Amino acid sequence: MSAPVDIREVGPRDGLQIEAPITTEAKIELIDALVATGVGRIEVTSFVSPRAVPALADAEAVAAQLGRWPGVTFSALVAGMGGVRRALAAGLTRIEYVVSASDGHSMANVGRSSEDSVTLIAPIVELVHGAGAELEVIVAIAFDCPFDGPTPPQRVAEIAARAVAAGADSISVADTVGTATPRRTGDVVDLVSAAAPGFDVGLHLHNTRGQGLANAWAGYEHGVRRFDSAAGGFGGCPFAPGASGNISTEELVYMFEDSGIATGIDLAATLEAARVASRLLGKPADSNLLRAGGPLVPGRLG
Ligand code: ZN
Repeated sequence: MSAPVDIREVGPRDGLQIEAPITTEAKIELIDALVATGVGRIEVTSFVSPRAVPALADAEAVAAQLGRWPGVTFSALVAGMGGVRRALAAGLTRIEYVVSASDGHSMANVGRSSEDSVTLIAPIVELVHGAGAELEVIVAIAFDCPFDGPTPPQRVAEIAARAVAAGADSISVADTVGTATPRRTGDVVDLVSAAAPGFDVGLHLHNTRGQGLANAWAGYEHGVRRFDSAAGGFGGCPFAPGASGNISTEELVYMFEDSGIATGIDLAATLEAARVASRLLGKPADSNLLRAGGPLVPGRLG
């Protein structure tokens, strides 16, 4: 057996944020289906402006329900100090702070420069640690920006190094607009890993241009063991033109498990969660594996 991977399901956050809002009850149904897959970590919402992201305006109401599922680690995304305060007040103990590596996306996303977002890492770490919680810094736009063009890999590594210096507990890099390819993924992972020694760098990938799983595999070969994905491949950034779905959890699980890499996630239950997400959103999932009906079963066409 090869080294196992630790997948974080981001469907309730990334998967829903560009969609028409669904009810809190529908989100609870989705989270329930995701918990049934055995996934250990779920990013459930983001604490951001309800005007900017109306689909996640009920973050507090979702957070209030999380006691239903003991044993699962829940987290939420934030984009600034106000979001951190709301997330902590709502009882979250794992917070993801997103920092865009480009000014164009950072301005569109949070209305401040990349550098100003980096400067906020230290006070956010202080606030989060003061509440006994943990902070992950996610470096968004780690490959290309829809406004500024290619992101210099050194800029991504620099942000990671400064997040480490500021006391962040973990680091991920995100291909927010889904333009990365395997070699560039490996290159950025190597640079960020060198800039964050001793950190287990995570990868957040989108399949916008069909490269998502290839990039995940490249990341694995470069030492990545933590991956984000969304059941049914839903998702995308509202502030990045052309962005589309996350890599799908079911395809990621299929790829790793078939390769002898344990995920701890049940594939049949993940396919069911993808169907639930599709039904709740009223649109088909972007998942080849789901379209094929799952892994090949002898005697059944597909
Ligand atoms: Zn994303």
